[in-house]
Amino acid sequence: MADEVYDLIIIGGGPGGLSAAVYAKRAALKTLLIEKGIPGGQVNLTDEVENYLGFERISGAELSMRFADHAKSYGLEILNTEVKAVEPGRDRHVIRLADGSGLSTFAVILATGGSPRRLEVPGEDELYGKGVSYCATCDGFFFRNKTVLVVGGGDSAAEEALYLAKLADKVYIAHRRDALRASKILQQRIQDEGKIEVLWNTVVTEIKADEQGVNAVTLKDVVSGEHRDLPVDGVFIFIGFTPNTKLVPEGVELAADGSVITDDKCATGIAGIFAIGDLRKKFSRQIILSAADGCTAALAAALYVENKKGASGKDACRV
Ligand code: NAP
Repeated sequence: MADEVYDLIIIGGGPGGLSAAVYAKRAALKTLLIEKGIPGGQVNLTDEVENYLGFERISGAELSMRFADHAKSYGLEILNTEVKAVEPGRDRHVIRLADGSGLSTFAVILATGGSPRRLEVPGEDELYGKGVSYCATCDGFFFRNKTVLVVGGGDSAAEEALYLAKLADKVYIAHRRDALRASKILQQRIQDEGKIEVLWNTVVTEIKADEQGVNAVTLKDVVSGEHRDLPVDGVFIFIGFTPNTKLVPEGVELAADGSVITDDKCATGIAGIFAIGDLRKKFSRQIILSAADGCTAALAAALYVENKKGASGKDACRV
């Protein structure tokens, strides 16, 4: 593998990376997808998906599996390892792997997604895995018939609170404002779910524990400034996420929120390097948009590789 030159290396096996792989393979690009975990990315951590076209309701795990199976059906080469760096070159780029070896490629699609944003309050780090969680689907089971607090007011917080309400006796949502950011349909479900209580204008200032793990949070009312302790058994934090930019080479322009700025072909400022999905600066972060980015970037990469190899230019839309 070390002496081979790839047309395209995709880093990340979420919906964006796998969709890019489907289009790249159909464009007959010599393609490698590198993923350090299991394919599917953040979708794997989602209980149910209701807004991916064609599936009225499907579990995140099953949708991930279908994405991966679809890409594999084209004979996609997948390497299960960690990438240490992307080293841009004039004609070819090098993907540096954890073992120090390098893979050469004409084009790169960065599809590394994002990681949960941390609250950065006392107790959060120490109590991670002892009552503090960033994944209700993974850890909700441990909170059957218990009381939990969800932090955040977006789609993730709303969806995960609804999931937790199926298991826990009581679910509080602490939101820093007086209105949720989540979609209207989720807001209505929150309102209709008797086990959920929204604590408006409320932030968490500390997570407390006894020898069993989390046992309370200190809350601050941002309007009155008052503090109070609320007994809870678990804290689930969904306050957005930070794009995983560790592999983004120096010189690529980033937005204020850390995401990668691209053009409408998902191209970064470095020729042959593309960024897609939750890594890329965009209006909204949805599974379908990541998949769409994968399509765009793969078609653009196909055209780029063809030009690099000296073939006559061809309209990417016809690839
Ligand atoms: P998000 O939409 O950015 O929402 C983050 C929430 O956390 C906001 O309510 C924000 O409050 C709050 N927040 C941020 N920093 C905070 C802090 N330090 N302390 C307390 N609260 C804080 O993030 P998300 O819910 O993870 O969603 C990310 C993207 O994925 C969005 O585009 C979302 O639409 C999408 N998504 C879609 C679905 C779906 O379509 N079913 C499901 C999940 C996610 P403010 O409202 O005051 O800013």
